[in-house]
Amino acid sequence: MENKACNCKLHPQSMCPAFGGLRVLMRIEGAQVCMVADQGCLYGLTFVSHFYAARRSIISPELMNIQISGGTMIDDLRNTIETIAANPAVRFIPVVSTCVAETAGIVEELLPKRVGNAEVLLVRLPAFQIRTHPEAKDVAVSSLLRRFGAFGEPRKEQSLVVLGEIFPVDAMMIGGILQKIGVKSLITLPGGDMDDYVQAGRAEACAVLHPFYERTASLFESAGIKIIGGNPVGANATGQWIERIGEALDLDPEKVKQVADEERQKAREVMAGFASRMHGSVIVAGYEGNELPLVRLLLEAGLDVPYASTSVSRMPLGEEDHRLLTMLGTEVRYRKYLEDDQAAVLEHQPDLVIGTTSLDSFAKELGIPSIYYTNNISARPVFFASGAASVLGMIAGLIEKKEVYVRMKEYFKPTV
Ligand code: SF4
Repeated sequence: MENKACNCKLHPQSMCPAFGGLRVLMRIEGAQVCMVADQGCLYGLTFVSHFYAARRSIISPELMNIQISGGTMIDDLRNTIETIAANPAVRFIPVVSTCVAETAGIVEELLPKRVGNAEVLLVRLPAFQIRTHPEAKDVAVSSLLRRFGAFGEPRKEQSLVVLGEIFPVDAMMIGGILQKIGVKSLITLPGGDMDDYVQAGRAEACAVLHPFYERTASLFESAGIKIIGGNPVGANATGQWIERIGEALDLDPEKVKQVADEERQKAREVMAGFASRMHGSVIVAGYEGNELPLVRLLLEAGLDVPYASTSVSRMPLGEEDHRLLTMLGTEVRYRKYLEDDQAAVLEHQPDLVIGTTSLDSFAKELGIPSIYYTNNISARPVFFASGAASVLGMIAGLIEKKEVYVRMKEYFKPTV
């Protein structure tokens, strides 16, 4: 049967949003998540959290019809919090409330703020309010900052918060380069230490790497902390990003320019090294909310990207990328459906798809090379020259293997 895009728009478009919050909260040292969720949701979220978060267990009060209709939900939750807090190693209990519990109604005032050694914080993550898992990360980070950030204390000079989940090598690269230009203190959020959230309130500026951290950015802004947009992906943006940080923190302009020029040049040289292999078209269709900088890198390297999509909505912090990408001919689809992505694959017949698992299966059946965005892009460095080398090397290799996918399709073609 010919592979056709379906128009029903009923397929799941993203994973459960609460997962994004769990990724942030479960990774904090001394934290034990207490989740108020239907048993089915709890099963699924425990499963993905072991895979993609901190490999820790989630503790939950039982929440079935009997608890909801019997009106014991809050008492059960309070008892569970007490039980968790009895462990002296637990210093923080994030209470994650999801769809069913939120529908039944959780009154924050009926929960303790602290039990024994442990701070207790309610984080509401129902899918009917928080549409995607990237946005749930924003809710978790902003809730932590609102409660624990030391916003009232004196600012630390030349201190910066870098906001956005990044690959560990990228974090190290950022640290090294910012130290060269004179940044004295650097905090990366989401962080693994509660103190990161406390000290973040004393920073002078915050570099927001991903556009969906809207709530967190506006919280920082309202506390007088400068917001810096963009990220060091590709040659032009890398130089610009370093210069913006220098300006926001009032660092030595000569030193900043020198480092920005060096890093810009290094990234350019990497791209020049791949120039002869950068031919073809790529569709980028993730659900992480950080897809547009990758598209920018591919366009800068000489590839054609006719279509890119993401699960988040169009946001002011992503506007710069939006303008550039659309000017260069990329159709950008926000709050996308799988069906939009499938139609784009059929229309553009790209040489490579970097997509969600469902889209990848669809593209492979058409004989088009395709890889999973989350496992291949979010799990490798993308910043500065080294990130460009890592991403472009992988993409060049995949485009060059296009013939293998066509042969594979032929091989599996039914003979009768
Ligand atoms: S019902 Fe809500 S909490 Fe449960 S899996 Fe679906 S989106 Fe997640």
